Amino acid sequence: MNSLPLRQVYVDGRWTAPRATGTISVENPATLRIVGEVPDCGSEDVWRAVDAARRALPGWAATGVEERAAALTALREALVKHRDELAETVTREMGAPLSFSRRVQAGLPVRVLDGFTAELAAATAEERIGHSLVVREPVGVVGAITPWNYPLHQAVAKIGAAVAAGCTLVLKPSELAPLSSCFLATLIDGIGLPPGVFNLVPGRGTTAGAALTVDDGVDLVSFTGSLEAGRKVGAAAAGTVKKTCLELGGKSATLVLPDADLVTAVEDGVHSALHNAGQTCTARTRLLVPRARLDEALDIARAVVAGYVPGDPEDPATLLGPLASAGQRERVLGHLARAARSGARQVAGQDIAAALPPTGHYVAPSVWADVSPSMPLAREEIFGPVLAVMAFEDDDEAVSLANHSEYGLAATVWSGDRDRALAVARRLRVGQVDVNGAKFNAAAPFGGYKQSGIGRELGRHGIREFQEVKSLQLPV
Ligand code: NAD
Repeated sequence: MNSLPLRQVYVDGRWTAPRATGTISVENPATLRIVGEVPDCGSEDVWRAVDAARRALPGWAATGVEERAAALTALREALVKHRDELAETVTREMGAPLSFSRRVQAGLPVRVLDGFTAELAAATAEERIGHSLVVREPVGVVGAITPWNYPLHQAVAKIGAAVAAGCTLVLKPSELAPLSSCFLATLIDGIGLPPGVFNLVPGRGTTAGAALTVDDGVDLVSFTGSLEAGRKVGAAAAGTVKKTCLELGGKSATLVLPDADLVTAVEDGVHSALHNAGQTCTARTRLLVPRARLDEALDIARAVVAGYVPGDPEDPATLLGPLASAGQRERVLGHLARAARSGARQVAGQDIAAALPPTGHYVAPSVWADVSPSMPLAREEIFGPVLAVMAFEDDDEAVSLANHSEYGLAATVWSGDRDRALAVARRLRVGQVDVNGAKFNAAAPFGGYKQSGIGRELGRHGIREFQEVKSLQLPV
């Protein structure tokens, strides 16, 4: 990581000094040591990068499926080759346990690229509608803004879609975790993309990020982050009527129907709420169980929580690292204090809270019962290792509780009867539902209903978000 060109921007196919003079220090949230420094870019650096992306656009837009697939494959190979170093970089910048970083933070982007390659031909295919030929063209220059919780994955999801669609792109990674994006840029530099197809401008949201959203050289803003920032991005982008794709927050639920295997289902629900220290947009932070089995479910949850003792993320045995920043820790502790005041009852994690590591932004895992649908604990995205358990009488009430949210990102339904689970899954107002523990599919559309966002990422649908559709009426 020491060899990364950290104080530079990557623009027009080379590392170069930024116009901005300020820098951003990146802290390891476990040790509180500074592990890197990146430029604190402002609008001048953003303009330069957008200009490079605009100049590269005609050439890359004119490429065929084979050339784009070759670029995706070359990037995939680079990610595989450097997987361990990428995982270590993510762990040091945002605190995810190293074992999780290897498997998910650095492993998932490889599958994401495979999904784009597999779907590339279908996503770019022309179609006939009556006497019209409908063609799909790249939308143009993409401004990509990413958060810190899966920093490599979120960057690759946007870069892969842009490369596949024939777009060029300017990436503004999170100021909290920009190092993996810098690493990624060195890998992209080595795969032979034409200069300007990919550009990296580190900086803060309110400066570099805001500049990208208003720049009239940017045709589409692809944003992943909080609901609050997403609203601002949408409003700012409206000034130049740019397309926006927003991947925002969630308050997802695990629904354990009465005929489900309770142990498997509850264990899965608790792991989903706690992995990556709860800092996952699709974290299922509400566990809905049959009222008659509530006490049993709480016992199972307590047993799982006991394995999530926070510790050194570089220790292979650690399941729970620190939160990504001091600000994030304060926010989560504020949510927990409010939960206690609102009358919810903490049923797991108190003993762990008494013995946290002395250094680092650690928060103990916690499970809460006596949670009513109107409480903030049941409604707000906490983004920490916190699970709310709620009880229901029948499938209708389970569906109604799950849908009682301004968010609509994800859910899991567990039932001994697959058809029953599927019927419930169809009634949920969310973008993706796992039935009986089915695995994540990196080629299937990913995104949210309601205030979880606009648009879809990954696979064919992700590529299509980065396209314009043109009808060519042909004489009959
Ligand atoms: P954030 O909104 O604070 O920041 C996200 C990115 O937006 C950062 O790069 C930031 O610099 C930038 N930004 C902030 N304000 C901006 C502005 N006004 N204009 C332009 N850019 C701006 O979010 P975060 O704290 O980094 O990430 C956590 C949030 O991300 C959670 O709410 C989580 O649910 C969400 N998230 C959603 C998904 C999804 O796919 N739905 C995936 C991961 C994370």
